[in-house]
Amino acid sequence: MNKKVLITGVAGFLGSHLAKDLLAAGCVVVGVDNLSSGKITNIKGLPEDRFIFKEMDVCSRKLLADPDFLNVQEIYHLASAASPKYYQASPFETINVNTIGTKNMLELAKRNHAKMVYTSTSEAYGDPEVHPQPETYRGNVNTWGPRACYDEAKRLGEVLCYLYYTQYQTKVKVARIFNTYSAGLANDDGRVISNFVTQAIKGEDITVYGDGTQTRSFCYVTDTINGLKLLMEKDEANGEIINIGNPIEHSILDLAHFVKKLSDSESFITFHPLPEDDPKVRRPVIDKARELLGWAPVKKLEDGLKETIAEYKEKLKIQEDKS
Ligand code: UDP
Repeated sequence: MNKKVLITGVAGFLGSHLAKDLLAAGCVVVGVDNLSSGKITNIKGLPEDRFIFKEMDVCSRKLLADPDFLNVQEIYHLASAASPKYYQASPFETINVNTIGTKNMLELAKRNHAKMVYTSTSEAYGDPEVHPQPETYRGNVNTWGPRACYDEAKRLGEVLCYLYYTQYQTKVKVARIFNTYSAGLANDDGRVISNFVTQAIKGEDITVYGDGTQTRSFCYVTDTINGLKLLMEKDEANGEIINIGNPIEHSILDLAHFVKKLSDSESFITFHPLPEDDPKVRRPVIDKARELLGWAPVKKLEDGLKETIAEYKEKLKIQEDKS
């Protein structure tokens, strides 16, 4: 029988990619999304015989009584705005989906004896004072700032996973996902690669915040998705928190120059105020993922960016033709 998998946030960037991947592998996928930041176009054309879409909020208790969720064997809880632009625009919703929503999903996993992957974030480390960041680092998050709604909600989500694992032996695993990209990010997503590539292609200014010396480590979406699937698969990962990210670090200014060069763009690079609490550095230690999952990213930034640029060019051409 086909495995039945629940994905929350199925119309989002990672959720829609994962759904396509699992459907191609023969799974039945039940996808939940309230379409607050996810886009219905992301899940257009999925095979109707094995894909069930539920436009619902994961915070709703009704979800637990819905017969479509009864015999789900695996749960990927991805629902949440993830771009600072979006989570800061809906801070209370962000807190709810990662706390009440996570509790609902854990309850479902417990009742169904299902496995569950919760997607936490590198933001759990805040503006880190330990570099690079291993899972044992407890973080430096500001509770009194614009990023707190996301960072602290994800951290509380982790606490709920810990409680279900220790009190009920729920087979839950936590991924701390670092910056992920591909052309699957909407042009107006607000995150750095979608902004820079869109700007470079359109010949608009490439907007570096601050002086661009802050760093991030970028993982291509296929690598991140493979990491999440291995996390689900491996029993050794039950009750564990594991970093999923690319350990190669770049400054934001270098990224701006690299995107400009690869897109053959004449855009200017301009400098703008650094957002409050913007982490200065970020790079994962991935020894635990290597050991427990046998996972490490394989896609080079240059190759991933070239694909992203090519697909964005195509997408923007279609949008221009329509207008
Ligand atoms: N950033 C930038 N220009 C942009 C968008 C983002 O310089 O147009 C910077 C941002 O200040 C941060 C980094 O790029 O230092 C990554 O930002 P993003 O929003 O992608 O994700 P974050 O890692 O901060 O959650």
